Amino acid sequence: MTARVLVVNAGSSSLKYRVVDPASAESAAAGMVERIAQSGGRVSHTEVGGTHTREVDCADHTAAFTVLREEFETHGPALADLGIGAVGHRVVHGGEEFSAPVALDDDVISAIQGLAALAPLHNPANVQGIAGAREVFAGLPHVAVFDTAFHATLPPGAREYAVPARWRQDFGVRKYGFHGTSHAYVSRRVAALLGRRPSEVNCIVLHLGNGASACAVAGGTSVDTSMGLSPTDGLVMGTRSGDLDPAVAGHLARVAGVSVEDFSDAVNTASGLLGMTGSSDFREVMDLMDAGNEAAATAYQVVLHRLVRHVGALAAPLGRLDAVAFTAGVGENNARLRADVLRRLSLLGLAVDEKANDSAAGEARISPPGAVAAFVVPTDEELEIARQCAELLGWP
Ligand code: ADP
Repeated sequence: MTARVLVVNAGSSSLKYRVVDPASAESAAAGMVERIAQSGGRVSHTEVGGTHTREVDCADHTAAFTVLREEFETHGPALADLGIGAVGHRVVHGGEEFSAPVALDDDVISAIQGLAALAPLHNPANVQGIAGAREVFAGLPHVAVFDTAFHATLPPGAREYAVPARWRQDFGVRKYGFHGTSHAYVSRRVAALLGRRPSEVNCIVLHLGNGASACAVAGGTSVDTSMGLSPTDGLVMGTRSGDLDPAVAGHLARVAGVSVEDFSDAVNTASGLLGMTGSSDFREVMDLMDAGNEAAATAYQVVLHRLVRHVGALAAPLGRLDAVAFTAGVGENNARLRADVLRRLSLLGLAVDEKANDSAAGEARISPPGAVAAFVVPTDEELEIARQCAELLGWP
């Protein structure tokens, strides 16, 4: 038996975890601690016997990791039997420093904290998670896997913004891209589904969850992506605006006195589907649309147009497109959106096999013979993180 990885994803008030065997891809247990440092906290822990939920009161992330350990002690499987060899941490922003997974020590943690200016909503929470995990699981190696790392290969034409050179040099203003572990995992699965090596495949991955991004992958490397300096850019998301004329911020400051902080908050937490319809949940927006709600119908058209526009823009520099893959909550479950996107992209040789698309479950090809391949590929970021940890640590 090879060692397993405890994969953790720490948000400001939540902690998701899963124990993964990087060799077999099997998951031994998973769970989530919610409402850390808030009232009404709870943990739910899933193992082979079922899911166990209880109320907990976690003052901080260290307390949340203690709760996590208790769940394994109470409900199993016993941590001692799992052979956990490392803790793998999802970290959102690696800036220019980190283009690959890295073993965590005090210097690396300071560097991740130092990137907080680039990812104020994410990196500080990731660091809290790392600190808590290192206290509770002190004997294990801890590894950071960055959401930005897969995009370290972006060529200058895709990476740079046309802004004053000083912004770039002094403040790191450039495109970084996110959802890297998902884009890496899904693009490799696409190659496997085509029966080819990743180096032989050009594809576009559409990661459509609460957060959403598109990535052009050429021969296994990211060559362009829809998110930018931050995860706010690109596609329409649950609560983020995606593409926006940068002049909107100045306009609102002048006509409505909107401050930089309020603007930033609005485009991240009160825009996207939520801003347009009152709901950030794609299923609810579809239900509203079907019930005749005009705002929801318009939002759907904006989502669709934005997707079509981005796929077109990402396909052109790829030169040759072998496949498109849909993943994450919306991409894996919403057949109607997939069909509408593919139908509008006939220019690229894409088409939908209605029957295959409607019945898709797990990995599935949803394009008809003769068309450019389209797939549904359930993403597995935890497995990808576990594999990257194993590789860094030199496990067989
Ligand atoms: P996150 O980015 O938080 O991981 P997910 O990948 O879970 O998000 O995606 C959440 C989105 O997926 C929500 O908008 C939700 O409505 C949508 N979704 C999940 N299941 C379905 C489904 N069966 N049909 C349509 N949309 C779904």
